[in-house]
Amino acid sequence: MIRYPIHPREWENRIEELVPGWQARAEARTAHFRELGRYSESSSIWSEIKRVYMELQGFKCGFCERRLEKSRYGNVEHDVEHFRPKGRVDAWPTAAITDDRGLAYDFDLGEAAANGYFLLAYNRENYLISCKTCNTALKRNFFPIAGNNERPGTQPRDMRGEKPFLIYPLGAVDEDPEDLIEFDGVLPVPIGTRGHKRRRAQVTIDFFALDRREVLLEERAETILALHLALHARNAAEEGTRAIGLHMVDRLTSPHAPHAGCARSFRRRFDADQAGANDIADAALDYLLSLVS
Ligand SMILES: [Zn+2]
Repeated sequence: MIRYPIHPREWENRIEELVPGWQARAEARTAHFRELGRYSESSSIWSEIKRVYMELQGFKCGFCERRLEKSRYGNVEHDVEHFRPKGRVDAWPTAAITDDRGLAYDFDLGEAAANGYFLLAYNRENYLISCKTCNTALKRNFFPIAGNNERPGTQPRDMRGEKPFLIYPLGAVDEDPEDLIEFDGVLPVPIGTRGHKRRRAQVTIDFFALDRREVLLEERAETILALHLALHARNAAEEGTRAIGLHMVDRLTSPHAPHAGCARSFRRRFDADQAGANDIADAALDYLLSLVS
């Protein structure tokens, strides 16, 4: 995961530009939920502003960094995910998830609630784009927290006291994911050695199965091999090769590149320890070869 920086004013402007009047309609709906004391409506309007998030995130899933379709035909691939569930909240992990993935934690991850964060159903800082695997199959109505819940809440940026385990990557609402998770080759690993930061990183990795989904490991291995060549080409004798190398290093580590978090970890390793980076590239190649044999 990486952060996608945007100023709150710019964020609001982009939404207003795409769908004039959307914000006012959203506020009216939120006022209605406040009266009801829960989330309830027959049809929703958040999909109208989906494109703002697709572009901000570079047409990538905010959780697993896979690239998604860019054209309007591909809108269906992009789920508008409510980071804090608008309806009910389910406890994570369920017994089935614990059994299936062999998870075990010696700390509390929060409780289920029949009524969720209904005042955040139309809060722009509660949305992000995610792929269907991350949203529909994995995120569902879960929102594990270490602190006391602050439901229903009105502003996510003021709700850090909940100590969420999952990480919100847009703007400056939450911590920078790259301060919490780095990559050892194709595998995501927590940066901290202890405390909530480390737990957040581990739970996020476990929650989205970021270290075991084959498509993610495969794509990261391909990224590492491309970046490895580009980093070497950057120092080549021939000017044209150097130019391509520089361009590809920038491209593969930019916020809009798939698996930029992994790529940036690899670039740091290459700059600090080239022999170690060469070993990682060899391992990435071995991994890809193991998939075809
Ligand atoms: Zn995803």
